[in-house]
Amino acid sequence: TKSDIWRKDRDHLLHPYTDFSCFREEGSQVIEKAEGMYVTDQDGNRLLDGIAGLWCVNIGHGRKDMAEAIAAQVMDMQYYNPFGHSTNIPASELGAKLAALAPGDLNHVYYTCGGSTANDAAIRLVHYYFEMKGQHRKKKIISRDAGYHGATYVAASLTGIHGTKLGFDRIGEDFIHHVSAANMYAKPEGMSEDEFCDFLVDEFERRIHQLGPDNVAAFIAEPIMGAGGVLVAPKGYHKRMYDVCKAYDMLYIADEVVTAFGRLGEWFASEAVFGMTPDILVCAKGITSGYIPLGATMITSEIYDVIAHPQCEGGVFSMGLTYFGHPVACAAALKNMEIMESEGMLGNAKEVGPYLQETAKSLLNLPIVGDVRGSHLMMGIDLVADKKTKAPHGAGVSEAIFKKCLDRGVIVRPVGDRIVISPPIIINREECDMIVNAISESITEYLAEA
Ligand code: PLP
Repeated sequence: TKSDIWRKDRDHLLHPYTDFSCFREEGSQVIEKAEGMYVTDQDGNRLLDGIAGLWCVNIGHGRKDMAEAIAAQVMDMQYYNPFGHSTNIPASELGAKLAALAPGDLNHVYYTCGGSTANDAAIRLVHYYFEMKGQHRKKKIISRDAGYHGATYVAASLTGIHGTKLGFDRIGEDFIHHVSAANMYAKPEGMSEDEFCDFLVDEFERRIHQLGPDNVAAFIAEPIMGAGGVLVAPKGYHKRMYDVCKAYDMLYIADEVVTAFGRLGEWFASEAVFGMTPDILVCAKGITSGYIPLGATMITSEIYDVIAHPQCEGGVFSMGLTYFGHPVACAAALKNMEIMESEGMLGNAKEVGPYLQETAKSLLNLPIVGDVRGSHLMMGIDLVADKKTKAPHGAGVSEAIFKKCLDRGVIVRPVGDRIVISPPIIINREECDMIVNAISESITEYLAEA
């Protein structure tokens, strides 16, 4: 029964990012079934999933063909040691496919168990690369305020969301050098988009000088910040930050854990949407649409040639994950990408995404909606106490709107004083309307009760 499940959950599970007090009262949501755009809870409520699970179920829930591909791989060969010279068919096929689709010469893949471990791998590859080049001091990584890069110790240390730092000591000064978020909504009054971009690039360069260019190894950024509030950078920002990296012999890491695999209508967003090919590209989530955990860290041939060069001393990248290139996860990724291709899902995101962005602008008519922004199937809605000062409304309101949307059969995500939307990329226009209407009605009801 629901009570049984809830009691076992309360007594034994440590939920991430969840206030423990939530579990003192009965009433957790138990999601039991999922199909297409919908999930169903144990009370039989069918809910439109406006957040694709957690930015990941891009092809939609409950696909039988995914289940069959996963089962077939389990029957053929479910696991074998990936170290040394052994490999497996899906891992090799997927590596070739990712290399073919990724921009530039991002030709080499390190597989992990998800986004956090893929970012950890990125940092270890950066450090290893500079070690192999004899630049032993190049260790520091610059990341951004409000950026989210994951939950393992290194990834969490790169993360610039303040609430995530509670109760853990970051691993040291190499990882705490944040620069400002590219938050267009919060840019100083009267500053143009171009001037804001200049400000951010100048700040970045100043930070590099402060730390000493010989000590700074890399910059990491999401093409569009996700958990930080769906922040879209000013035009030209990523390319300019990349150029600064090149000027100081630094590597640019694009964290595409959310933006890859169709969320912005492309396989990868860095080059196709933002005109910049990173040195390292990190992805996860949509790579399997969340059917099985998998992450991938892609590096350029230039980096590969340094770390794999036979004349290099060492020549062993000693990050040994048991589940590197897990055959079942890689088979799921291949099937997921085949489905995206054969059903034209990237095209759907390209067509329906702008419709969602346009339709949701109507929310700006509500007195507490300060900003509606995003791109394609990634959207953030800022809830403010005062549209002039842009003062946040307070975290409680987004929770209240989330619950009211649930009552209307729609799942959105409350993040601080924002609502975030990131639906499966199979969404149609009618479902976009359902999400926007649910938010609009929920805010109106909340204001009437206040
Ligand atoms: N990077 C970004 C941009 C993310 O949004 C996330 C998760 O939300 C991660 C990394 C961490 O991925 P995972 O939770 O799979 O470890």
